[in-house]
Amino acid sequence: MIVVMSRVTEEDLQRVVDKLKGYGFDIHISSGVAKTIIGAVGGSKTVDLSNIEMMPGVEKVVPILQPYKLVSREFKQEDTIIKFGDTEIGGNKIAVMAGPCAVESYEQLLAAAKVVKAAGAQFIRGGAFKPRTSPYSFQGLEEEGLKMLKAVREETGLLVVTEAMDPKSAELVAEYADIIQIGARNMQNFFLLKEVAKISKPILLKRGLSATIEEWLMAAEYILAGGNYDVILCERGIRTYETYTRNTLDISAVPAVKMLSHLPVIVDPSHATGKWRLVGPMAKASLVAGADGLMIEVHPKPSEAFSDGAQSLTPQNFHVLMDELRYLANAIGKSL
Ligand code: PEP
Ligand code: MN
Repeated sequence: MIVVMSRVTEEDLQRVVDKLKGYGFDIHISSGVAKTIIGAVGGSKTVDLSNIEMMPGVEKVVPILQPYKLVSREFKQEDTIIKFGDTEIGGNKIAVMAGPCAVESYEQLLAAAKVVKAAGAQFIRGGAFKPRTSPYSFQGLEEEGLKMLKAVREETGLLVVTEAMDPKSAELVAEYADIIQIGARNMQNFFLLKEVAKISKPILLKRGLSATIEEWLMAAEYILAGGNYDVILCERGIRTYETYTRNTLDISAVPAVKMLSHLPVIVDPSHATGKWRLVGPMAKASLVAGADGLMIEVHPKPSEAFSDGAQSLTPQNFHVLMDELRYLANAIGKSL
């Protein structure tokens, strides 16, 4: 349930929190300008809501009907904006995370980073731990790759987004990353979700290959329930019967999730389509649909990429796309 309190004093708030804890609830507080919202989740006992409604400072008590609570718009009406110094995700400025599928070498990563920086992206992406379908494919440079990401961050000022694949290495990834990515294949790895919930770094949660919107939001709920409220959702296409594209980009998930949740939503048109020619059109469609940002694969030489070359943009194509996106962002009252 959520308890809405207005013009609340410390004592009134504490009294309500103690009462709710007495019922066995976990408490999550969101303080706005005029109102304080208490999210009370878990709790096994049946509660007479009017007992809480009568307490001083309480305006109303509302049960949350969806299975996801803390990620819901009912719990928090304003959009969540995640800040990184003067960069943010979820506000009026479109966030762009771009770079190679995998970190292959320092030279490759730096070349990609220079390109994405010059074109106006704020984040470099690149996997050091790679979730590959085949055990014989390149698995990533692991900690060496993380060190390269850190060095490139220092050299260019770009923020780093990189994937953590298991609970064991999540802490290690957190030492090097500004945003920890949870890949599509791990969206329902609940041990991993619980682990990253304890880390104080924003989490980029990709939608699972066959996950419904509700399952995706429930996965995000694990992270918020564990105490980390900085979650960015990433639509990256889902499995359908279509095989021409790698996945089917569920563009309607963007406005749907923005209605259901206060969390920022970005789109990855690269993994969604698997074809570089489709990346630009889908990136533009995503902005118009209301996405807060984009994740795009860019490689200095896509034909030589260790992975996902067919969906990676060349430096030239990325530049052109960013110019088009800037124009489009302005047209919809945002900036890039
Ligand atoms: C990636 O972004 O590197 C990746 C593997 O994507 P996904 O988890 O969406 O397949
Ligand atoms: Mn990839």
